[in-house]
Amino acid sequence: MSPTQRASLRHDWQRDEIQTLLERPFNDLLFQAQGVHRQHFDPNAVQISTLLSIKTGACPEDCKYCPQSGHYNTGLQREKLLQLEAVLEEARKAKAVGASRFCMGAAWKHPSARDMPLVLEMVRGVRAMGLETCMTLGMLSREQAEQLGEAGLDYYNHNLDTSPEYYGDIITTRTYADRLETLDHVRESGMKICSGGILGMGESVNDRAGLLQQLANLPVHPESVPINMLIRIQGTPLEHVEDLDPIEFIRTIAVARIVMPRSHVRLAAGRELMSDETQALAFFAGANSIFYGERLLTAQNPQATHDQRLFERLGLHPETREDIDDDAHEAALQQRMAKVRLDAMVTDATARA
Ligand code: SF4
Repeated sequence: MSPTQRASLRHDWQRDEIQTLLERPFNDLLFQAQGVHRQHFDPNAVQISTLLSIKTGACPEDCKYCPQSGHYNTGLQREKLLQLEAVLEEARKAKAVGASRFCMGAAWKHPSARDMPLVLEMVRGVRAMGLETCMTLGMLSREQAEQLGEAGLDYYNHNLDTSPEYYGDIITTRTYADRLETLDHVRESGMKICSGGILGMGESVNDRAGLLQQLANLPVHPESVPINMLIRIQGTPLEHVEDLDPIEFIRTIAVARIVMPRSHVRLAAGRELMSDETQALAFFAGANSIFYGERLLTAQNPQATHDQRLFERLGLHPETREDIDDDAHEAALQQRMAKVRLDAMVTDATARA
């Protein structure tokens, strides 16, 4: 990473700056985002992840968009935590169709002490196949984050979902501060962060700016930023929310690319609702990661063969490994964390003075 590129990694974004970007003339915004994208990534490479639900439904949280919440009757079939061999079999299949990262999701408030040993075995087993590993298991204590890091988990997914102001309209069983605390534990345990949000939940442009501001102003940008389009599920409180204009979705992708220039921005849930043309625009705006396969946790995802055809039509190719210099990334991360710790010590000392 050149000095100019490093200088472009800001962590002091103001809400109004981001909102101004979101409201730029569309062509200017896309041109800017594509320019930033080309400074940091191969513009025709897309990272591919596969996602498996390792424990489905009956979640005690009340996320208003989620069919897995035990608070809503969505007709979803509940499933217990999968056994190790079943998970490894799915990981083998994912690798065979070109995935470089295997993500495992469990519908929990947080993992229990009883389930942790099996979860850790899953991490070790999938990693031994040469795949990158990612998990999303709900909130983590510091100790659990350390255990996962030691087992070799590469990424932990924990979304902020929306702005701090709108969050309470969507989830009441945990707070924004809880989310940020888990992200802290993950970062301090040496894992990479996957964190993003969901659009189309009735939020305002200012809320979308607020979400991006929170993500971009984390001490280190999340390496992976999933931007989901709400899938309206019958039986959830957001079942009848109005559709989001796809142009607003593309704008948010473009601004995510600008404010987090080195992060992989992922087109996540809701891709099957998008036309090929919307997806093409999203790639142009700086999205460079997708979930691949026919299921995305409990929702339909575009058929793998359809994705292959779309890649061919757009001249895209799968990214075979992280398109970043790991040493430079690690050095930048350590430098940033050292500065954060130093700042905290100075603040602490000033407060006590
Ligand atoms: S924590 Fe996850 S699985 Fe549980 S209700 Fe919220 S989004 Fe769904």
